[in-house]
Amino acid sequence: MASLHRYQAKRHFDRTPEPRGAVTPSRDKLRFVVQRHAASTLHYDFRLEMDGVLKSWAITRQPEADPAVKRLAVPTEDHPVEYAQFEGDIPPGEYGGSHVDLWDQGTWVPEDAPIAAYRRGKLQFELKGKRLKGRWALVRMGNAQTRKKDLWLLMKRIDAEDAGA
Ligand code: MN
Repeated sequence: MASLHRYQAKRHFDRTPEPRGAVTPSRDKLRFVVQRHAASTLHYDFRLEMDGVLKSWAITRQPEADPAVKRLAVPTEDHPVEYAQFEGDIPPGEYGGSHVDLWDQGTWVPEDAPIAAYRRGKLQFELKGKRLKGRWALVRMGNAQTRKKDLWLLMKRIDAEDAGA
């Protein structure tokens, strides 16, 4: 079972408007969210609901719906599912202090059992967002040595309707 221990340990909930949250068993529709986070280094936080939490990756530039473009995705701590609604200002001096915008949100449909696919390092899924749609993948990079760094790639895949075009 997932845990929010790392998420909660990093934050002071008397000072940040972010939700404390709780592990929340998933219902039939799994949520995803992308948050634009204007921290000291602007990045996008890509989050997929799984195992009662939002599995999270930080992406240096905005996701691109072009199969030729792969985005480096660095895992970050699991976030509570209710974080999928969060936008606003995290106060200066607090963890991640800066402005957060909801950049996209919707549901995602995994092609394989998601927890096992996550552990294998190869998630293939459909996104049903306002900006991001169609087939995507998150794949853990590298061989046994580089895998210790736990770096992933987010990439668009060719949609079936595009394949013969
Ligand atoms: Mn962030």
